[in-house]
Amino acid sequence: MAPSRVVALDIGGTQVKGGWIDRAEASAPPAGVLASRTRTLQTDLSGGTAAFLDSVAAFARDLGYDGALGVGVPGVFDPRTGALERSANLPALDGLNLEEELRARLGKESILALDNDANAAALGESWLGAGKETSSLILFTLGTGVGGGIILDGELFRGGSGRGGELGHLVVRAKDSATPEEEGLRCGCGAYGCLERVASATAAKRRARAAGLPLDLAHLARRARAGSPAESALFRAVGRDLGAGILAATALLDIPLILIGGGFAGAYDVLLPGIEEALGERHYGGSPLRVQPAALGPAAGWIGAARLTYPAL
Ligand SMILES: [Zn+2]
Repeated sequence: MAPSRVVALDIGGTQVKGGWIDRAEASAPPAGVLASRTRTLQTDLSGGTAAFLDSVAAFARDLGYDGALGVGVPGVFDPRTGALERSANLPALDGLNLEEELRARLGKESILALDNDANAAALGESWLGAGKETSSLILFTLGTGVGGGIILDGELFRGGSGRGGELGHLVVRAKDSATPEEEGLRCGCGAYGCLERVASATAAKRRARAAGLPLDLAHLARRARAGSPAESALFRAVGRDLGAGILAATALLDIPLILIGGGFAGAYDVLLPGIEEALGERHYGGSPLRVQPAALGPAAGWIGAARLTYPAL
């Protein structure tokens, strides 16, 4: 029998977020109602991987799991094999075949659909969020790192092996010489000057420390809004680097809608002057670029993960 409901999860480094969509509302569920259903489970790997996956499966059942589950996973995920190859936020899960592990816990007839968490968020925004009026968008998710997802002509762009749309690893600062400052720009991927080394929340904190400012970004953003010069300059600099990443992505893809999401997107308004400064330097013509905040907030990932299951329902 067809599942009466789709349950979906967004597995993150500190929390697993989840929710559900009932079959009766599946064709056009109201985004606000879905977002209000977001439930959370603490990500706890202290008892080992197996115990964590048991808790994830139990969480899915608590949400009313009935045979269909979508999951956004944090890291390089290969949708062809179901394996999470590398996870910067949850290294304990590196190399794990999440699809097989969840199937073993939920039953072999389960309809499971998994993808990278930022891909899932991009799909969510495209389906019910800030991108629902257009067929293509690029989502940058700003948090501990920078993630990204690309929706091209209505389809999630995964690339050749699931690594497409890794916007955080666009190189926006070339390495000139190995000064200590540049050593700080070395990314976990091995390259220098990746977007996530200069435009993530982590990067903003590094700049704050260097400027002798406190590291509470929400506090710094409030100070910037109030016109404080040091904080305004910090967010402007981060915004400029984010703008460089946006320029790089749009030069390649010519997609005119850019969404900014993730936890650090709460600083969108104070990042915007720097973003606009960077974008204003290029004159290509063509369709005007629209940069705007994502609409679904922390629910984007699980909502998009739910949508991942639809082709199999
Ligand atoms: Zn990188």
